[in-house]
Amino acid sequence: MPMTLEQLNSASQEAAAQQLDGLYEHSPWIAEQALHERPFTSLAHLKHAMCEVLAHAGRDAQLALIRAHPELAGKAMVSKTLTAESTNEQSKAGLTDCTPEEFAKIQKLNADYNAKFGWPFILAVRGPRGLGLNKRQIIDAFERRLHGHPDFELAECLRNIHRIAEIRLNDKFGVEPTLGHKVWDWQEKLAQHSDPGFAELGQLTVTYLTDAHRACAQGITQNMRDCGFDEVYTDAVGNVVGRYHPATSSGKYLMTGSHYDTVRNGGKYDGRLGIFVPMVCVQQLHQQGKRLPFGIEVVAFAEEEGQRYKATFLGSGALIGQFNPAWLDQQDADGITMRAAMQHAGLCVDDIAKIQRDPAQYLGFVEVHIEQGPVLNQVNIPLGVVTSINGSVRYLCEVIGTASHAGTTPMDRRRDAACAVAELALYMEQRAAQDGDSVATMGQLQVPNGSINVVPGRCTFSLDMRAPTDAQRDVLVADILAQLQAIAERRGVRVKAELTMCAAAAPSAPEWQARWERAVSALGVPLFKLPSGAGHDAMKLHEVMPQAMLFVRGENGGISHNPRESTTSCDMQLCVDAFTHVLNQLASELS
Ligand SMILES: [Zn+2]
Repeated sequence: MPMTLEQLNSASQEAAAQQLDGLYEHSPWIAEQALHERPFTSLAHLKHAMCEVLAHAGRDAQLALIRAHPELAGKAMVSKTLTAESTNEQSKAGLTDCTPEEFAKIQKLNADYNAKFGWPFILAVRGPRGLGLNKRQIIDAFERRLHGHPDFELAECLRNIHRIAEIRLNDKFGVEPTLGHKVWDWQEKLAQHSDPGFAELGQLTVTYLTDAHRACAQGITQNMRDCGFDEVYTDAVGNVVGRYHPATSSGKYLMTGSHYDTVRNGGKYDGRLGIFVPMVCVQQLHQQGKRLPFGIEVVAFAEEEGQRYKATFLGSGALIGQFNPAWLDQQDADGITMRAAMQHAGLCVDDIAKIQRDPAQYLGFVEVHIEQGPVLNQVNIPLGVVTSINGSVRYLCEVIGTASHAGTTPMDRRRDAACAVAELALYMEQRAAQDGDSVATMGQLQVPNGSINVVPGRCTFSLDMRAPTDAQRDVLVADILAQLQAIAERRGVRVKAELTMCAAAAPSAPEWQARWERAVSALGVPLFKLPSGAGHDAMKLHEVMPQAMLFVRGENGGISHNPRESTTSCDMQLCVDAFTHVLNQLASELS
């Protein structure tokens, strides 16, 4: 019989500790200390309490915990002295039947890892879906993490230990994140479609209106129909729209969704998570035969990433009447115009203007998205409420100095363009850090036609500066540009700075942000708020209706726009629960 949370909350300290035995390898003290936080409102609450215990236990205790773990496919496995939990996990991953070559490879990795860090390599081998990683995935993770910084690697081991404990805890309580699994599996299935050239390499790339893109649209359409949406259609720009009707025909709609296109060699969750989470919620409503006082419109946006054509946010932009007809004549790398691609896909270009929504028909827009950054991962919190989508400004700049002989020009007579820019790069870094939540990046930096023996006469570079409010961003930009001028004057070089993009910040609508906050708190997840550093479809809808976003923690340090992007089905389940909670809040507000 699996235990219940009520039993755990009411048991004596000793009995409760006994119930939680084995969660952390040979380290019962973590659960024991966390039990002082009883009563727990949810397993998520208990999990976080245990994370907090370990976070405050100090480095020695953390290292002792890591060292209490057996090596993967190590001596303990061979001599069958692993704990029952570890045996189960390692055998599920197929580590108990390695070929001699694989075994030798893992032994070497274990030895190298131990020599570098001084502790064993820890990986939650049951993986983000709980089904078990395969040997290839395990060896890849091992090889990659061998190159990590020791501080990062220590944290990564602890995160994996928490993940192992999470799965063990779910097993004890007989909890399966069923809806999280469903969302996970849909994403896995959708990721089978990838553009030619990438598909062969096992990489995920889905750009606007390619065959793979249209296959995704078809897959999502079918999923929506299966879920019980009342209307499912593809609109004039390729967005897949699913509408679940309100209880009465006069009800307004909640709009939600995200994008299904990807960057080149991207992740499986970026965008798609925000389509499938509300879809599974609608499926639940349909199965229960439930109608809400409002309708739900899930939009799978066809284009957000601006990969094939320079038309970023095309999908959501079209819904607010921002489709630029000039885009139709843009050509992709193969010379195919957007117009031709649309015609080939059977889209009716003349209907694009008609898909503009009337904001009066909508309550607002919410979007769920994988965080795409390291913050939630670092604080061990699965969900984060977005306060604002950062305003961003981009410049392309150039510094012109004097190219001269690298051997004969004395240091005090140089007009070195690259050194001027280097000075700005360091200033920019510390100036953005000063705000706490601003960011600034020099992502491009070139010495055009530079030579090894020539003092750089020209240096071109980019600036990308973002902050949660336009005012904060503008001060940041002004300071950095003023510094550029000052550096140029002092060094006797000239500067050019061309503004190439300026996007307003999109602060979350307070009442919508509050709904996410209530939902997260109700799940027993600590409330954590953060701005979004990346742009999202919600930015576009922000221009016409209230919006707020919810972030889901990413694994692997929160890496995104990368095949290693990941999150767990447990976190996806929490996200589904939070979304359902928001739907219920709205229903009771409106009834
Ligand atoms: Zn995205």
